[in-house]
Amino acid sequence: MLRGLMMDRPLLISSIIDFAAEIRSDTEIVSARVEGDLHRYTYAGSRRRIAQLAHWLQDHGIKPGDRVATLAWNGYRHFELYYAIAGIGAVCHTINPRLFPDQITYIVNHAEDRLLFVDGTFAPLVEKLAGSLPKDMRTVVMTDRGHMPENALTYALCYEELLAGQPETIDWPEFDENSAAGLCYTSGTTGNPKGVLYSHRSTILHTLGVLAVADGIGLRPGQSILPVVPLFHVNAWGLPYLMPLTGTKIVFPGPRLDGPNLFALLDQESVTAAWGVPTVWLGLAAEMRKQGRAPAGLQVVLTGGSAAPGPLIRELELNYGLNITHGWGMTEMSPVGSLTVLNKKMRNQPREEQLPYKASQGRRLFGCDLKIVGEDGKRLPHDGVAFGELLVRGPAVMSAYFNDDDANAASHDAEGWLRTGDVARIDPDGFLFIVDRTKDVIKSGGEWISSIDLENAAIGHPAIQECAVIAAPHPKWSERPLLIAVLKEGQTATAEEVRGFLADKVAKWWLPDDVLFVAELPHTATGKLSKLQLREQFKDHVLPTIAEQPTP
Ligand code: ADP
Repeated sequence: MLRGLMMDRPLLISSIIDFAAEIRSDTEIVSARVEGDLHRYTYAGSRRRIAQLAHWLQDHGIKPGDRVATLAWNGYRHFELYYAIAGIGAVCHTINPRLFPDQITYIVNHAEDRLLFVDGTFAPLVEKLAGSLPKDMRTVVMTDRGHMPENALTYALCYEELLAGQPETIDWPEFDENSAAGLCYTSGTTGNPKGVLYSHRSTILHTLGVLAVADGIGLRPGQSILPVVPLFHVNAWGLPYLMPLTGTKIVFPGPRLDGPNLFALLDQESVTAAWGVPTVWLGLAAEMRKQGRAPAGLQVVLTGGSAAPGPLIRELELNYGLNITHGWGMTEMSPVGSLTVLNKKMRNQPREEQLPYKASQGRRLFGCDLKIVGEDGKRLPHDGVAFGELLVRGPAVMSAYFNDDDANAASHDAEGWLRTGDVARIDPDGFLFIVDRTKDVIKSGGEWISSIDLENAAIGHPAIQECAVIAAPHPKWSERPLLIAVLKEGQTATAEEVRGFLADKVAKWWLPDDVLFVAELPHTATGKLSKLQLREQFKDHVLPTIAEQPTP
Protein backbone atom coordinates (compact mmCIF):
# COMPACT_ATOMS: atom_id res chain seq x y z
CA MET A 1 0.00 0.00 0.00
CA LEU A 2 1.36 3.42 -0.92
CA ARG A 3 0.20 6.05 1.60
CA GLY A 4 -1.18 9.27 0.17
CA LEU A 5 0.74 12.41 1.01
CA MET A 6 -2.04 14.71 2.14
CA MET A 7 -2.35 16.50 5.47
CA ASP A 8 -3.93 14.47 8.22
CA ARG A 9 -6.08 17.32 9.57
CA PRO A 10 -8.84 16.24 11.99
CA LEU A 11 -12.46 16.75 10.92
CA LEU A 12 -13.76 18.90 13.80
CA ILE A 13 -17.15 20.53 14.34
CA SER A 14 -15.52 23.83 15.39
CA SER A 15 -14.35 24.29 11.79
CA ILE A 16 -17.98 24.64 10.65
CA ILE A 17 -18.81 27.66 12.80
CA ASP A 18 -15.45 29.24 11.98
CA PHE A 19 -16.19 28.84 8.27
CA ALA A 20 -19.69 30.31 8.69
CA ALA A 21 -18.47 33.27 10.77
CA GLU A 22 -15.93 34.11 8.09
CA ILE A 23 -17.65 33.22 4.82
CA ARG A 24 -21.35 33.64 5.75
CA SER A 25 -20.67 36.35 8.33
CA ASP A 26 -23.72 38.55 7.75
CA THR A 27 -26.27 35.75 7.26
CA GLU A 28 -28.98 35.99 9.90
CA ILE A 29 -30.12 33.68 12.67
CA VAL A 30 -33.63 34.60 13.85
CA SER A 31 -35.17 33.01 16.95
CA ALA A 32 -38.70 33.09 18.34
CA ARG A 33 -37.69 33.10 21.98
CA VAL A 34 -39.25 31.49 25.03
CA GLU A 35 -39.33 35.09 26.37
CA GLY A 36 -41.95 35.83 23.68
CA ASP A 37 -40.05 38.12 21.29
CA LEU A 38 -37.93 37.63 18.14
CA HIS A 39 -34.13 37.70 18.51
CA ARG A 40 -31.85 38.38 15.52
CA TYR A 41 -28.11 38.22 15.00
CA THR A 42 -25.64 36.88 12.43
CA TYR A 43 -23.29 33.90 12.16
CA ALA A 44 -20.43 36.25 13.04
CA GLY A 45 -22.33 37.44 16.14
CA SER A 46 -23.10 33.85 17.05
CA ARG A 47 -19.41 32.87 16.82
CA ARG A 48 -18.52 35.63 19.32
CA ARG A 49 -21.03 34.37 21.89
CA ILE A 50 -20.00 30.76 21.25
CA ALA A 51 -16.42 31.77 22.14
CA GLN A 52 -17.64 33.43 25.34
CA LEU A 53 -19.60 30.35 26.36
CA ALA A 54 -16.65 28.07 25.54
CA HIS A 55 -14.36 30.15 27.76
CA TRP A 56 -16.84 29.96 30.63
CA LEU A 57 -17.13 26.18 30.26
CA GLN A 58 -13.34 25.75 30.25
CA ASP A 59 -12.93 28.11 33.22
CA HIS A 60 -15.49 26.10 35.17
CA GLY A 61 -13.83 22.74 34.87
CA ILE A 62 -15.55 21.22 31.82
CA LYS A 63 -12.93 18.89 30.37
CA PRO A 64 -12.76 16.99 27.07
CA GLY A 65 -15.18 14.05 27.19
CA ASP A 66 -17.40 15.58 29.92
CA ARG A 67 -21.11 15.46 29.16
CA VAL A 68 -23.03 18.75 29.22
CA ALA A 69 -26.80 18.40 28.86
CA THR A 70 -29.45 20.63 27.31
CA LEU A 71 -33.21 20.64 27.78
CA ALA A 72 -34.32 23.33 25.38
CA TRP A 73 -36.37 24.44 22.36
CA ASN A 74 -35.00 25.52 19.00
CA GLY A 75 -33.30 28.87 19.53
CA TYR A 76 -29.99 30.67 19.20
CA ARG A 77 -28.74 29.81 22.69
CA HIS A 78 -29.26 26.10 22.06
CA PHE A 79 -27.32 26.52 18.78
CA GLU A 80 -24.50 28.24 20.71
CA LEU A 81 -24.35 25.31 23.13
CA TYR A 82 -23.95 22.82 20.26
CA TYR A 83 -20.77 24.57 19.10
CA ALA A 84 -19.27 25.74 22.40
CA ILE A 85 -19.54 22.30 24.05
CA ALA A 86 -18.28 20.28 21.08
CA GLY A 87 -15.66 22.94 20.27
CA ILE A 88 -13.79 22.42 23.55
CA GLY A 89 -13.95 18.63 23.18
CA ALA A 90 -16.85 18.06 25.59
CA VAL A 91 -20.04 16.22 24.63
CA CYS A 92 -23.32 18.03 23.93
CA HIS A 93 -26.02 15.79 25.37
CA THR A 94 -29.41 16.93 24.10
CA ILE A 95 -32.36 15.68 26.15
CA ASN A 96 -35.88 15.35 24.81
CA PRO A 97 -38.17 17.19 27.26
CA ARG A 98 -41.14 15.14 26.08
CA LEU A 99 -39.72 11.99 27.65
CA PHE A 100 -41.29 10.76 30.87
CA PRO A 101 -39.66 12.37 33.94
CA ASP A 102 -38.25 9.03 35.12
CA GLN A 103 -36.66 8.51 31.67
CA ILE A 104 -35.01 11.94 31.94
CA THR A 105 -33.70 11.04 35.40
CA TYR A 106 -32.34 7.75 34.02
CA ILE A 107 -30.67 9.49 31.07
CA VAL A 108 -29.00 12.28 33.07
CA ASN A 109 -27.62 9.75 35.56
CA HIS A 110 -26.57 7.24 32.90
CA ALA A 111 -24.78 9.95 30.92
CA GLU A 112 -23.26 11.37 34.14
CA ASP A 113 -23.99 14.91 32.97
CA ARG A 114 -21.89 17.60 34.70
CA LEU A 115 -24.01 20.58 33.74
CA LEU A 116 -27.61 21.02 32.59
CA PHE A 117 -28.73 23.97 30.45
CA VAL A 118 -32.51 24.52 30.44
CA ASP A 119 -35.02 26.88 28.88
CA GLY A 120 -37.17 28.66 31.48
CA THR A 121 -40.15 26.57 30.32
CA PHE A 122 -38.52 23.46 31.76
CA ALA A 123 -37.39 24.94 35.08
CA PRO A 124 -40.38 23.50 37.00
CA LEU A 125 -39.68 20.04 35.51
CA VAL A 126 -36.02 20.14 36.57
CA GLU A 127 -37.01 21.46 40.00
CA LYS A 128 -39.28 18.45 40.43
CA LEU A 129 -36.52 16.03 39.38
CA ALA A 130 -33.80 17.76 41.42
CA GLY A 131 -33.66 15.11 44.17
CA SER A 132 -32.90 12.32 41.71
CA LEU A 133 -30.30 14.11 39.54
CA PRO A 134 -26.52 13.86 40.14
CA LYS A 135 -25.69 15.81 43.34
CA ASP A 136 -22.84 17.90 41.91
CA MET A 137 -24.61 18.75 38.61
CA ARG A 138 -25.15 22.51 38.16
CA THR A 139 -28.10 23.94 36.28
CA VAL A 140 -28.08 27.01 34.02
CA VAL A 141 -31.29 28.72 32.87
CA MET A 142 -30.95 29.92 29.28
CA THR A 143 -32.10 33.51 29.70
CA ASP A 144 -31.12 36.87 31.19
CA ARG A 145 -31.46 37.89 34.84
CA GLY A 146 -34.77 39.68 34.21
CA HIS A 147 -36.39 36.50 32.87
CA MET A 148 -35.10 34.01 35.44
CA PRO A 149 -38.03 31.84 36.65
CA GLU A 150 -39.41 33.14 39.93
CA ASN A 151 -40.35 30.08 41.90
CA ALA A 152 -38.30 27.33 40.29
CA LEU A 153 -34.56 26.74 40.22
CA THR A 154 -33.77 29.70 42.45
CA TYR A 155 -30.27 28.25 42.91
CA ALA A 156 -29.57 28.04 39.14
CA LEU A 157 -27.04 30.08 37.15
CA CYS A 158 -28.13 32.60 34.51
CA TYR A 159 -26.90 32.01 30.93
CA GLU A 160 -26.38 35.64 29.98
CA GLU A 161 -24.36 36.26 33.13
CA LEU A 162 -21.99 33.41 32.21
CA LEU A 163 -21.17 35.04 28.89
CA ALA A 164 -20.79 38.61 30.15
CA GLY A 165 -17.17 39.77 30.16
CA GLN A 166 -15.73 36.60 28.54
CA PRO A 167 -13.41 37.05 25.49
CA GLU A 168 -15.25 37.04 22.15
CA THR A 169 -12.57 35.05 20.33
CA ILE A 170 -11.15 31.59 20.91
CA ASP A 171 -8.54 29.35 19.32
CA TRP A 172 -10.21 25.98 19.35
CA PRO A 173 -8.25 23.03 20.67
CA GLU A 174 -7.32 20.32 18.16
CA PHE A 175 -7.87 16.67 18.99
CA ASP A 176 -8.66 13.28 17.46
CA GLU A 177 -11.62 13.50 15.07
CA ASN A 178 -12.99 10.28 16.56
CA SER A 179 -13.60 12.03 19.91
CA ALA A 180 -17.21 12.13 21.04
CA ALA A 181 -19.10 15.36 20.25
CA GLY A 182 -22.78 14.65 20.85
CA LEU A 183 -25.01 12.26 22.76
CA CYS A 184 -28.67 11.50 22.13
CA TYR A 185 -30.82 8.81 23.72
CA THR A 186 -33.43 6.97 21.66
CA SER A 187 -36.81 7.09 23.33
CA GLY A 188 -36.96 3.29 23.32
CA THR A 189 -40.41 1.74 23.13
CA THR A 190 -39.32 -0.96 25.56
CA GLY A 191 -36.70 -0.90 28.30
CA ASN A 192 -34.51 2.05 29.17
CA PRO A 193 -33.49 4.69 26.64
CA LYS A 194 -30.24 3.91 24.83
CA GLY A 195 -27.44 6.41 24.22
CA VAL A 196 -26.00 7.09 20.77
CA LEU A 197 -22.62 8.83 20.94
CA TYR A 198 -21.70 10.81 17.81
CA SER A 199 -18.10 11.72 17.02
CA HIS A 200 -16.72 14.83 15.30
CA ARG A 201 -15.80 12.69 12.30
CA SER A 202 -19.21 11.01 12.01
CA THR A 203 -20.97 14.38 12.32
CA ILE A 204 -18.89 15.98 9.57
CA LEU A 205 -19.24 12.98 7.25
CA HIS A 206 -23.02 12.83 7.82
CA THR A 207 -23.20 16.55 7.03
CA LEU A 208 -21.24 16.06 3.80
CA GLY A 209 -23.48 13.11 2.85
CA VAL A 210 -26.57 15.31 3.09
CA LEU A 211 -24.81 18.19 1.35
CA ALA A 212 -24.30 16.00 -1.70
CA VAL A 213 -28.02 16.46 -2.37
CA ALA A 214 -28.30 19.95 -0.84
CA ASP A 215 -29.92 21.58 -3.83
CA GLY A 216 -32.91 19.23 -3.74
CA ILE A 217 -33.70 20.07 -0.11
CA GLY A 218 -33.55 23.83 0.00
CA LEU A 219 -29.97 24.20 1.25
CA ARG A 220 -28.56 27.11 -0.75
CA PRO A 221 -27.00 30.45 0.16
CA GLY A 222 -29.66 33.15 0.13
CA GLN A 223 -32.39 30.71 1.20
CA SER A 224 -33.84 30.44 4.69
CA ILE A 225 -34.69 27.35 6.69
CA LEU A 226 -37.05 26.83 9.58
CA PRO A 227 -36.13 23.72 11.57
CA VAL A 228 -39.30 22.45 13.25
CA VAL A 229 -37.36 19.25 13.87
CA PRO A 230 -36.01 19.80 17.38
CA LEU A 231 -32.42 20.49 18.36
CA PHE A 232 -33.21 18.30 21.36
CA HIS A 233 -33.43 15.14 19.26
CA VAL A 234 -30.88 13.67 16.82
CA ASN A 235 -29.15 16.95 16.05
CA ALA A 236 -32.26 18.32 14.32
CA TRP A 237 -31.42 15.97 11.43
CA GLY A 238 -28.05 17.65 10.99
CA LEU A 239 -29.40 21.17 10.36
CA PRO A 240 -27.18 22.92 12.95
CA TYR A 241 -24.21 21.89 10.80
CA LEU A 242 -25.84 22.02 7.36
CA MET A 243 -27.21 25.55 7.61
CA PRO A 244 -23.96 27.35 8.57
CA LEU A 245 -22.03 25.48 5.90
CA THR A 246 -24.44 26.36 3.10
CA GLY A 247 -25.08 29.88 4.38
CA THR A 248 -28.82 29.67 4.73
CA LYS A 249 -30.61 32.07 7.06
CA ILE A 250 -31.93 30.20 10.11
CA VAL A 251 -35.38 30.79 11.61
CA PHE A 252 -35.66 28.98 14.95
CA PRO A 253 -39.35 28.60 15.91
CA GLY A 254 -39.03 28.29 19.72
CA PRO A 255 -41.80 26.54 21.63
CA ARG A 256 -44.91 27.42 19.56
CA LEU A 257 -45.19 24.77 16.85
CA ASP A 258 -48.93 24.69 16.06
CA GLY A 259 -50.19 25.31 12.51
CA PRO A 260 -51.26 28.98 12.91
CA ASN A 261 -48.03 30.03 14.72
CA LEU A 262 -45.82 28.22 12.24
CA PHE A 263 -47.71 29.68 9.29
CA ALA A 264 -47.27 33.20 10.67
CA LEU A 265 -43.52 32.80 11.28
CA LEU A 266 -42.90 31.17 7.88
CA ASP A 267 -44.81 34.01 6.24
CA GLN A 268 -43.21 36.83 8.18
CA GLU A 269 -39.62 35.64 7.68
CA SER A 270 -40.15 34.50 4.05
CA VAL A 271 -38.84 31.04 4.88
CA THR A 272 -38.03 28.96 1.79
CA ALA A 273 -37.67 25.49 3.36
CA ALA A 274 -39.02 23.87 6.52
CA TRP A 275 -38.06 20.52 8.03
CA GLY A 276 -40.16 18.44 10.45
CA VAL A 277 -42.29 15.36 11.14
CA PRO A 278 -45.59 14.63 9.30
CA THR A 279 -47.76 15.55 12.33
CA VAL A 280 -46.47 19.12 12.06
CA TRP A 281 -47.33 19.27 8.35
CA LEU A 282 -50.84 17.96 9.00
CA GLY A 283 -51.29 20.98 11.32
CA LEU A 284 -49.77 23.39 8.81
CA ALA A 285 -51.89 21.95 5.96
CA ALA A 286 -55.04 22.60 8.01
CA GLU A 287 -53.95 26.24 8.41
CA MET A 288 -53.15 26.53 4.67
CA ARG A 289 -56.66 25.29 3.89
CA LYS A 290 -58.09 27.95 6.20
CA GLN A 291 -56.00 30.71 4.61
CA GLY A 292 -56.36 29.33 1.09
CA ARG A 293 -52.62 29.59 0.39
CA ALA A 294 -49.13 28.44 1.40
CA PRO A 295 -46.89 30.75 3.43
CA ALA A 296 -45.27 33.32 1.12
CA GLY A 297 -41.86 32.15 -0.07
CA LEU A 298 -42.16 28.55 1.09
CA GLN A 299 -40.85 26.14 -1.57
CA VAL A 300 -39.52 23.01 0.12
CA VAL A 301 -40.98 20.87 2.90
CA LEU A 302 -38.72 18.12 4.19
CA THR A 303 -40.63 15.49 6.13
CA GLY A 304 -39.28 12.49 8.03
CA GLY A 305 -39.26 10.53 11.27
CA SER A 306 -42.32 8.52 10.28
CA ALA A 307 -43.97 7.73 6.96
CA ALA A 308 -45.45 10.80 5.29
CA PRO A 309 -49.02 9.97 4.17
CA GLY A 310 -49.47 10.00 0.38
CA PRO A 311 -52.57 12.25 0.53
CA LEU A 312 -50.62 14.85 2.54
CA ILE A 313 -47.80 14.84 -0.03
CA ARG A 314 -50.38 15.09 -2.83
CA GLU A 315 -52.15 18.05 -1.22
CA LEU A 316 -48.96 20.01 -0.51
CA GLU A 317 -47.54 19.32 -3.98
CA LEU A 318 -50.60 19.70 -6.19
CA ASN A 319 -52.72 22.25 -4.29
CA TYR A 320 -49.95 24.50 -3.02
CA GLY A 321 -47.09 23.86 -5.46
CA LEU A 322 -44.66 22.87 -2.70
CA ASN A 323 -41.74 20.53 -3.29
CA ILE A 324 -41.91 17.69 -0.74
CA THR A 325 -38.81 15.70 0.16
CA HIS A 326 -39.38 12.60 2.26
CA GLY A 327 -36.53 11.34 4.42
CA TRP A 328 -35.87 8.23 6.44
CA GLY A 329 -33.36 7.63 9.18
CA MET A 330 -32.88 6.85 12.84
CA THR A 331 -31.10 8.21 15.90
CA GLU A 332 -28.41 5.55 15.44
CA MET A 333 -27.66 6.92 11.94
CA SER A 334 -26.94 10.59 12.82
CA PRO A 335 -29.85 10.37 11.57
CA VAL A 336 -30.49 10.75 7.81
CA GLY A 337 -30.20 7.55 5.73
CA SER A 338 -32.18 8.37 2.60
CA LEU A 339 -34.04 11.20 0.88
CA THR A 340 -36.47 11.40 -2.04
CA VAL A 341 -34.28 13.58 -4.16
CA LEU A 342 -35.39 12.67 -7.67
CA ASN A 343 -33.08 11.98 -10.58
CA LYS A 344 -33.13 14.17 -13.69
CA LYS A 345 -35.53 11.97 -15.65
CA MET A 346 -38.06 12.01 -12.82
CA ARG A 347 -37.75 15.77 -12.24
CA ASN A 348 -38.92 16.35 -15.82
CA GLN A 349 -42.06 14.25 -15.30
CA PRO A 350 -45.42 15.84 -14.40
CA ARG A 351 -45.81 16.25 -10.62
CA GLU A 352 -48.58 13.67 -10.49
CA GLU A 353 -46.17 10.99 -11.78
CA GLN A 354 -43.51 11.95 -9.24
CA LEU A 355 -45.82 11.35 -6.28
CA PRO A 356 -45.23 7.59 -5.81
CA TYR A 357 -41.49 8.24 -5.53
CA LYS A 358 -42.05 11.14 -3.14
CA ALA A 359 -44.10 8.82 -0.95
CA SER A 360 -41.24 6.31 -0.88
CA GLN A 361 -38.44 6.78 1.65
CA GLY A 362 -36.07 7.86 -1.11
CA ARG A 363 -32.55 6.85 -2.06
CA ARG A 364 -29.61 6.26 0.22
CA LEU A 365 -27.17 9.04 1.00
CA PHE A 366 -23.51 8.77 0.13
CA GLY A 367 -21.84 6.96 3.04
CA CYS A 368 -24.89 4.94 4.00
CA ASP A 369 -25.02 1.36 2.70
CA LEU A 370 -28.33 -0.55 2.82
CA LYS A 371 -29.13 -4.25 2.70
CA ILE A 372 -32.32 -6.22 3.17
CA VAL A 373 -32.24 -9.78 4.48
CA GLY A 374 -34.72 -12.64 4.82
CA GLU A 375 -35.49 -14.50 8.03
CA ASP A 376 -32.41 -16.68 7.41
CA GLY A 377 -30.20 -13.56 7.40
CA LYS A 378 -29.38 -13.99 3.68
CA ARG A 379 -29.43 -10.92 1.42
CA LEU A 380 -32.51 -10.29 -0.71
CA PRO A 381 -32.37 -8.70 -4.17
CA HIS A 382 -33.09 -5.00 -4.71
CA ASP A 383 -35.84 -5.78 -7.21
CA GLY A 384 -38.63 -3.69 -5.70
CA VAL A 385 -40.56 -6.83 -4.76
CA ALA A 386 -38.61 -8.82 -2.15
CA PHE A 387 -38.90 -7.37 1.33
CA GLY A 388 -37.12 -8.17 4.57
CA GLU A 389 -35.32 -6.66 7.53
CA LEU A 390 -33.31 -3.55 6.68
CA LEU A 391 -29.72 -3.19 7.91
CA VAL A 392 -27.31 -0.28 7.46
CA ARG A 393 -23.58 0.42 7.52
CA GLY A 394 -21.48 3.58 7.25
CA PRO A 395 -19.13 6.02 8.99
CA ALA A 396 -22.09 7.95 10.45
CA VAL A 397 -23.84 4.77 11.67
CA MET A 398 -23.50 3.79 15.35
CA SER A 399 -21.10 0.93 16.15
CA ALA A 400 -22.42 0.41 19.73
CA TYR A 401 -24.72 2.04 22.29
CA PHE A 402 -23.05 4.07 25.03
CA ASN A 403 -22.29 1.88 28.08
CA ASP A 404 -25.11 -0.56 27.41
CA ASP A 405 -24.08 -4.23 27.11
CA ASP A 406 -27.66 -5.49 27.07
CA ALA A 407 -28.68 -3.30 24.14
CA ASN A 408 -25.46 -4.05 22.26
CA ALA A 409 -25.97 -7.81 22.41
CA ALA A 410 -28.50 -7.80 19.55
CA SER A 411 -27.99 -4.45 17.81
CA HIS A 412 -25.73 -5.63 14.95
CA ASP A 413 -25.52 -8.71 12.70
CA ALA A 414 -22.47 -10.98 12.30
CA GLU A 415 -21.11 -8.76 9.47
CA GLY A 416 -21.28 -5.69 11.73
CA TRP A 417 -24.31 -4.05 10.08
CA LEU A 418 -26.83 -2.23 12.32
CA ARG A 419 -30.33 -3.69 12.53
CA THR A 420 -32.87 -0.92 11.89
CA GLY A 421 -35.98 -2.75 13.13
CA ASP A 422 -37.64 -1.81 9.84
CA VAL A 423 -39.00 -4.06 7.12
CA ALA A 424 -38.34 -2.72 3.63
CA ARG A 425 -38.00 -3.33 -0.09
CA ILE A 426 -35.60 -1.53 -2.43
CA ASP A 427 -36.20 -1.07 -6.17
CA PRO A 428 -33.56 -1.30 -8.92
CA ASP A 429 -33.23 2.55 -8.99
CA GLY A 430 -32.33 2.43 -5.29
CA PHE A 431 -35.67 3.73 -3.99
CA LEU A 432 -36.35 2.48 -0.48
CA PHE A 433 -39.89 1.56 0.56
CA ILE A 434 -40.37 1.06 4.30
CA VAL A 435 -43.09 -1.56 4.65
CA ASP A 436 -43.39 -1.34 8.41
CA ARG A 437 -41.63 -1.56 11.76
CA THR A 438 -40.76 -5.21 12.43
CA LYS A 439 -43.00 -5.13 15.47
CA ASP A 440 -45.92 -3.23 13.90
CA VAL A 441 -46.45 -5.37 10.81
CA ILE A 442 -49.73 -7.36 10.96
CA LYS A 443 -49.34 -11.09 10.44
CA SER A 444 -52.60 -12.33 9.01
CA GLY A 445 -52.82 -15.99 8.01
CA GLY A 446 -49.08 -16.21 7.34
CA GLU A 447 -49.06 -13.08 5.13
CA TRP A 448 -47.93 -9.59 6.13
CA ILE A 449 -50.10 -6.49 6.07
CA SER A 450 -48.30 -3.15 6.23
CA SER A 451 -49.86 -0.94 8.90
CA ILE A 452 -48.17 2.07 7.26
CA ASP A 453 -49.75 1.44 3.83
CA LEU A 454 -53.18 1.01 5.40
CA GLU A 455 -52.82 4.22 7.43
CA ASN A 456 -51.69 6.10 4.34
CA ALA A 457 -54.75 4.93 2.42
CA ALA A 458 -57.15 5.73 5.29
CA ILE A 459 -55.80 9.25 5.87
CA GLY A 460 -57.12 10.05 2.39
CA HIS A 461 -60.70 9.79 3.73
CA PRO A 462 -62.04 13.34 3.83
CA ALA A 463 -63.28 13.06 7.44
CA ILE A 464 -60.13 11.51 8.95
CA GLN A 465 -57.58 13.79 10.62
CA GLU A 466 -55.15 11.15 11.93
CA CYS A 467 -55.22 7.35 12.19
CA ALA A 468 -53.30 4.28 13.27
CA VAL A 469 -53.55 0.62 12.39
CA ILE A 470 -52.59 -2.04 14.92
CA ALA A 471 -52.82 -5.82 14.97
CA ALA A 472 -55.74 -7.24 16.92
CA PRO A 473 -55.68 -10.92 17.89
CA HIS A 474 -57.86 -13.21 15.79
CA PRO A 475 -58.42 -16.94 16.41
CA LYS A 476 -58.42 -17.91 12.73
CA TRP A 477 -55.97 -15.45 11.13
CA SER A 478 -53.73 -14.94 14.16
CA GLU A 479 -53.85 -11.13 13.68
CA ARG A 480 -56.17 -8.81 11.80
CA PRO A 481 -55.92 -5.03 11.25
CA LEU A 482 -57.80 -2.66 13.54
CA LEU A 483 -58.05 0.96 12.37
CA ILE A 484 -58.30 3.66 15.03
CA ALA A 485 -59.09 7.14 13.75
CA VAL A 486 -59.49 10.73 14.91
CA LEU A 487 -62.07 12.65 12.90
CA LYS A 488 -61.62 16.20 11.65
CA GLU A 489 -63.51 18.84 13.61
CA GLY A 490 -67.23 18.75 12.83
CA GLN A 491 -66.95 15.66 10.58
CA THR A 492 -68.63 12.28 10.97
CA ALA A 493 -68.01 8.83 9.51
CA THR A 494 -68.95 5.21 10.22
CA ALA A 495 -66.82 2.08 10.23
CA GLU A 496 -68.65 0.71 7.19
CA GLU A 497 -68.20 3.92 5.25
CA VAL A 498 -64.43 3.97 5.94
CA ARG A 499 -64.14 0.32 4.91
CA GLY A 500 -66.07 1.17 1.73
CA PHE A 501 -63.67 4.06 1.06
CA LEU A 502 -60.68 1.71 1.39
CA ALA A 503 -62.21 -1.07 -0.75
CA ASP A 504 -60.66 0.09 -4.04
CA LYS A 505 -57.40 1.26 -2.46
CA VAL A 506 -56.06 -1.87 -0.77
CA ALA A 507 -56.37 -5.64 -1.28
CA LYS A 508 -59.64 -7.05 0.03
CA TRP A 509 -57.94 -9.16 2.68
CA TRP A 510 -56.18 -6.02 3.98
CA LEU A 511 -59.47 -4.27 4.87
CA PRO A 512 -59.53 -3.53 8.62
CA ASP A 513 -61.87 -5.83 10.53
CA ASP A 514 -63.01 -2.88 12.62
CA VAL A 515 -62.75 0.90 12.66
CA LEU A 516 -62.89 2.77 15.96
CA PHE A 517 -63.14 6.53 16.41
CA VAL A 518 -61.33 8.24 19.28
CA ALA A 519 -60.81 11.85 20.41
CA GLU A 520 -57.00 11.62 20.17
CA LEU A 521 -54.17 9.17 19.51
CA PRO A 522 -51.17 8.68 21.82
CA HIS A 523 -47.78 9.94 20.57
CA THR A 524 -44.21 9.16 21.61
CA ALA A 525 -41.74 11.75 22.83
CA THR A 526 -40.63 12.28 19.23
CA GLY A 527 -44.15 12.95 17.96
CA LYS A 528 -44.75 9.51 16.42
CA LEU A 529 -47.86 7.44 16.93
CA SER A 530 -47.32 5.27 19.98
CA LYS A 531 -48.48 1.88 18.76
CA LEU A 532 -47.21 0.31 21.97
CA GLN A 533 -49.68 2.41 23.97
CA LEU A 534 -52.46 1.76 21.45
CA ARG A 535 -51.91 -2.00 21.60
CA GLU A 536 -52.13 -1.80 25.40
CA GLN A 537 -55.25 0.41 25.25
CA PHE A 538 -57.11 -1.88 22.83
CA LYS A 539 -55.78 -5.25 23.95
CA ASP A 540 -59.24 -6.37 25.09
CA HIS A 541 -61.07 -5.17 21.99
CA VAL A 542 -62.99 -8.02 20.39
CA LEU A 543 -63.17 -7.75 16.60
CA PRO A 544 -66.71 -8.06 15.22
CA THR A 545 -65.38 -10.59 12.69
CA ILE A 546 -64.47 -13.06 15.42
CA ALA A 547 -68.10 -13.95 16.08
CA GLU A 548 -68.45 -14.82 12.38
CA GLN A 549 -65.65 -17.40 12.58
CA PRO A 550 -66.04 -20.82 14.16
CA THR A 551 -63.65 -20.93 17.13
CA PRO A 552 -60.86 -23.41 16.33
P1 ADP B 1 -37.14 7.89 18.07
O1 ADP B 1 -37.28 9.19 17.37
O2 ADP B 1 -38.44 7.23 18.33
O3 ADP B 1 -36.14 7.88 19.16
P2 ADP B 1 -35.83 7.27 15.72
O4 ADP B 1 -36.01 8.67 15.30
O5 ADP B 1 -34.46 6.75 15.78
O6 ADP B 1 -36.48 6.96 17.05
O7 ADP B 1 -36.76 6.37 14.84
C1 ADP B 1 -36.29 5.69 13.75
C2 ADP B 1 -37.41 4.93 13.11
O8 ADP B 1 -38.44 5.82 12.68
C3 ADP B 1 -36.99 4.21 11.86
O9 ADP B 1 -36.35 2.99 12.15
C4 ADP B 1 -38.33 4.03 11.16
O10 ADP B 1 -39.07 2.96 11.69
C5 ADP B 1 -39.07 5.28 11.51
N1 ADP B 1 -38.96 6.26 10.41
C6 ADP B 1 -38.16 7.30 10.33
N2 ADP B 1 -38.38 7.97 9.18
C7 ADP B 1 -39.34 7.30 8.50
C8 ADP B 1 -40.00 7.47 7.24
N3 ADP B 1 -39.74 8.48 6.44
N4 ADP B 1 -40.93 6.56 6.89
C9 ADP B 1 -41.23 5.52 7.68
N5 ADP B 1 -40.65 5.31 8.88
C10 ADP B 1 -39.72 6.18 9.29
